[in-house]
Amino acid sequence: MGAIAAALQACRKRIADACVAAGRAPDCARLIAVSKTFPADAIRAAHAAGQTAFGESYVQEALPKLRQLADLALEWHFIGPLQSNKTRQIAAHFDWVHGLDRLHIAQRLSEQRPAALPPLQVCIQVNVSGEASKHGVAADAALALAEAIATLPNLRLRGFMAIPEADLDPTAQRLRFRQVAGLPPAGRQRGLDLDTLSMGMSADLEAAIHEGATLVRVGSAIFGNRRRIDNNQLEQGL
Ligand SMILES: *Cc1c(COP(=O)(O)O)cnc(C)c1O
Repeated sequence: MGAIAAALQACRKRIADACVAAGRAPDCARLIAVSKTFPADAIRAAHAAGQTAFGESYVQEALPKLRQLADLALEWHFIGPLQSNKTRQIAAHFDWVHGLDRLHIAQRLSEQRPAALPPLQVCIQVNVSGEASKHGVAADAALALAEAIATLPNLRLRGFMAIPEADLDPTAQRLRFRQVAGLPPAGRQRGLDLDTLSMGMSADLEAAIHEGATLVRVGSAIFGNRRRIDNNQLEQGL
């Protein structure tokens, strides 16, 4: 078995074990393999090992890979920061967007979603780390934004996404994730159809699953350590 297939198998076991430890069904959280900075061949290897959902963070880096992999039936999740000059490409090429935190970006994505495609599946990013992050809406503003986004015709709001700071201990990780856990039920009480909590990465997926994650976004535990990429490389498409 190749290294990626073996790492995927280990990751799936971690997820299933965490689900059971949390008293949830073994398949309670779906795995998104985060392939940013890794080449199309690595994604092909993961697909051969049964993985179909992949996450990318940089539009310029992702689009050539999506083209190279167009022969496979893959589900693409955009998990990076959202800039208004990138929304058209994201709306045209991705199935999901996880980092929504502003209504005007959501409006652009809805307007720019090609009519031939199903609605873009979206999650609202909630800031669970205070001033340590500039991304995400405050938890107490998330439901108002959710109600506004839910009215947009070409988006389908699924739930919420969160990224705690790195290097927290498991107790602190859980406390961060717990700030988001109550949002889907609160939204459902307001009539919103929400079923998703996108939270948990290589270093904190157990804590996220304990607090109710339904999607985990795992990169380095599957593909290995990423090389650093700087803005110049991104501008040049790497
Ligand atoms: C890179 C990234 C991940 C994956 O992180 P790992 O620590 O490599 O598992 C998950 N979510 C987001 C938003 C990311 O940018």
